[in-house]
Amino acid sequence: MDFDRILVTAALPYANGPIHLGHLAGAYLPADLFCRYGRMKGKDVVFVCGSDEMGVAIMVRARKEGVEPQDIVDRYHPQIKEAFKGFGMSFDIYSRTTTAVHAETSQEFFRTLAGKGIFTTKKERQLFDPKAGIFLADRFVVGTCPTCGNENAYGDQCEKCGSTLSPMELLHPRSTLSDATPELRETTHWYLPLGDFQTRLENWIGQHPEWKPNVLGQVNSWLKDGLRERAITRDVPWGVPVPEDVAKSQGIDASGKVIYVWFDAPIGYISATKEWALEQGKPDEWKKYWKDEKTRLVHFIGKDNIVFHCLMFPAMLMAHEGYVLPENVPANEFLNIEGDKLSTSRNWAVWLHEYLEEFDADLLRYALATMLPETKDADFNWTEFQTRINSELADVLGNFVNRTMTFAARFADGKVPRLVNPNDIDKYTLKELATFPNRIGTAYDRYKNREAVFETMALARLGNKYFNDSEPWHTRKSNPQSCANAIHISLQICASLAVLLEPLLPDSAQKIRNMLNLAGVRSSMPKDILDPTSGGSTIGWDDAVKPLLKEGHVLGESSILFTKIEDEVIEAQKAKLGAKPTQMETELAFAPLKDVITYDDFAKLDFRMGTVLSAEAIPKSKKLLKLTIDLGFEKRQILAGAAEHFEPEAMIGRRVAIVANLAPRLMMGMESQGMVLMAEGRDGQLAIMESIGEDGAIIK
Ligand SMILES: [Zn+2]
Repeated sequence: MDFDRILVTAALPYANGPIHLGHLAGAYLPADLFCRYGRMKGKDVVFVCGSDEMGVAIMVRARKEGVEPQDIVDRYHPQIKEAFKGFGMSFDIYSRTTTAVHAETSQEFFRTLAGKGIFTTKKERQLFDPKAGIFLADRFVVGTCPTCGNENAYGDQCEKCGSTLSPMELLHPRSTLSDATPELRETTHWYLPLGDFQTRLENWIGQHPEWKPNVLGQVNSWLKDGLRERAITRDVPWGVPVPEDVAKSQGIDASGKVIYVWFDAPIGYISATKEWALEQGKPDEWKKYWKDEKTRLVHFIGKDNIVFHCLMFPAMLMAHEGYVLPENVPANEFLNIEGDKLSTSRNWAVWLHEYLEEFDADLLRYALATMLPETKDADFNWTEFQTRINSELADVLGNFVNRTMTFAARFADGKVPRLVNPNDIDKYTLKELATFPNRIGTAYDRYKNREAVFETMALARLGNKYFNDSEPWHTRKSNPQSCANAIHISLQICASLAVLLEPLLPDSAQKIRNMLNLAGVRSSMPKDILDPTSGGSTIGWDDAVKPLLKEGHVLGESSILFTKIEDEVIEAQKAKLGAKPTQMETELAFAPLKDVITYDDFAKLDFRMGTVLSAEAIPKSKKLLKLTIDLGFEKRQILAGAAEHFEPEAMIGRRVAIVANLAPRLMMGMESQGMVLMAEGRDGQLAIMESIGEDGAIIK
């Protein structure tokens, strides 16, 4: 089928952490290669993406940090956007799902499907926190694991024994929001009965035998099991609200109900396209990309998203009607790191923003593209990264461009020499050169990026071989025209590379064009409608079949394309792996409980209330504060190890609990007559135990 335009989506990254290599290998690099190639080919390409900012995980994260969910997404969205930009992602728009356009679009989708009677509703009993006044998502219920007795198992999983749980299975459940004991209450939810779409989905998938086997394998196994209904709403306070008019017409109270994130996230592709159209000043332009059957819609994702993009979202699009269905969903498998499964909690990951602090984006684009998990899980390792850069980019591509430029400067006056009476090797090489745009392009078009990289480098290898075989360093004296011909053809290969490298190595391709002084090459970046010159280029992908440089053309300045990476640099990267769990990702352990004591043991302790009268720092001590505490019947001097947590002034006037019968101790030459009670969190932060009892009151 012929398409008039291409709409490409890349999975919306979840905005609760930075981007790592696993993300890039799954969806983003393949999508970017495909889009940049399409634009070089002269196709009408729109590439949309954005941050997925809804969902319970973001709420959980926010609660852990004591901030609002909006704070979490406001932190990560710009970080992710910036890292993608540094990596060279050529999005037409990078949006987010907290925009008004997204809320409207999701609600319109929900309303339309509800209006067609697509959904079912179900009353069910769910755990409710009576103190916080909300239904509890699985993650907000903790309790004792029925399998291993872990007292802090989550409502969906016990992290100690790994059991998958439902919140009702927990013994002694409690809410993490308020510590209240949850109650079972009735609530109503909307469901998408996917089974109703089974036949249509089967017929549609059946028309796509060309899809990748790893994708079809997963899809067919879901279809074989039979598709079941799936809840599309939840009772959580963070998400796109269920439209009130829809709920009301069905006699349901919509308050506190939001659209389930799996339902609204893919709609994010549509809202992002709408926002892009608005930015273009053509608000209706999005419709062409989503509703005209001449659109080739391609979803780039990782394998964990296959079911959503191949079955659920298509079912939603079918149900809504008027939307195109994806032409392909070329999902990749997972990327391991140094032979081990990628894990963000163990910091067994390579973070994009950290990578970009030390290396050029092109190096990673290249190395990663050679290791993409296209048909099965693949491994990224730093030694292979180094080999790819040093023995391929530097030794093959960089070397070929460099020696060609050097010879042209020294023996051809920095110009493209005339080609006269080409010999058989010359003719063969030019004929070979003409095959590359199609060889590389076909691979990109079929989502075979590793093959595209291999073919691209094959052109550089052809150049190197040609240069070696023509021996211009010998012929420049014995046969100057043969030397001139060799320089001419080598320069033409460089010029074709400067076009054909554009999707893979956009920065290096530009560098080669600068060296060659080659202008007018079509951009692989989105067309800038505000810059009228951006459309004025004449050299596209297919033009690289033929010599692009005219005889006598004056070349530019030569520069080094790639420098080799030393072993120490690679060792330093390896040492980072697993070494420093990022603070936010770490689940800090609770200290184990101490041995059991008797009541008599406890009764020996004398706890009293007191008021801090004065507080001062102790010179030479980083930790200690000298406090004077009024116990009502007497005053005490207590040295408290709180200087790293509280300013002295902030302590004055605080009501504190102290251990009043602790034997006095000498610290820094001063006597401490007791101990102030403080709560030490898992992160080592101290909090004062405050109470309203009178000074001297006994705490028991
Ligand atoms: Zn357990």
